[in-house]
Amino acid sequence: MKIVIAVKRVVDYNVKVRVKSDKSGVETAGVKMSMNPFDEIAVEEAVRLKEKGIATEIVAVSVGVTQAQETIRTALAMGADRGILVETEIAVEPLAVAKLLKALAEKEGAELVILGKQAIDDDMNATGQMLAALLGWPQGTFASKVEIADGAATVTREVDGGLETVKLALPAVVTADLRLNEPRYASLPNIMKARKKTIDVVKPADLGVDVTPRLTVINVSEPPSRKAGIKVPDVATLVEKLRNEAKVI
Ligand code: AMP
Repeated sequence: MKIVIAVKRVVDYNVKVRVKSDKSGVETAGVKMSMNPFDEIAVEEAVRLKEKGIATEIVAVSVGVTQAQETIRTALAMGADRGILVETEIAVEPLAVAKLLKALAEKEGAELVILGKQAIDDDMNATGQMLAALLGWPQGTFASKVEIADGAATVTREVDGGLETVKLALPAVVTADLRLNEPRYASLPNIMKARKKTIDVVKPADLGVDVTPRLTVINVSEPPSRKAGIKVPDVATLVEKLRNEAKVI
């Protein structure tokens, strides 16, 4: 079974993001970029499926600027077999990413596509769902457990009320939630090995996809800064303040 995984290059989750002075977006110049954390979980899941002998090949795909090859390289160091960069300078929206992934999943003959549930930069939470719809494949989103057997994926999903288990006939799309697994750190020997693995570079047009944005960003602003808290001497004062000042009890 061939697995395609989608890995996005985003501002590292430890970075305190700054809004550009013209309010057109977030400052990325000179900022540490990393693989989207949910995509690391997607990579880990695919690698575990390969280690179990279920997956035969893992193809890591990223859509973005030339430097997104580093993100693919990280996936290769974690255990993916090869990579494909769909190179574009345009900040691609979920629908366009989904169209590109559809083209690649079909071209590669993938039986499973694993994405992160959400990219931490734009918080869209849409690409996996759109991809499943475009392919006409079943989807298991917010996965906290994935089991593959007899041509089907049994996916445990984290939903509001608890856990929901769905059985999907393969081929299928899965999006990874936080508790699916704990991604490994790539070892030095594997980082070295990853350097020799192939990354093909294609353009969106090669896949017949128009990635022109459909959304216009009007304004990006920082959230209001939080006021400092206060310390109270005892529980009685706390209760009094909650009742009379905050009026929450
Ligand atoms: P989103 O729908 O933007 O929140 O992203 C959900 C998931 O889609 C991410 O966790 C990635 O797995 C995948 N994805 C989104 N954008 C890209 C991209 N530019 N390149 C590769 N994968 C992406």
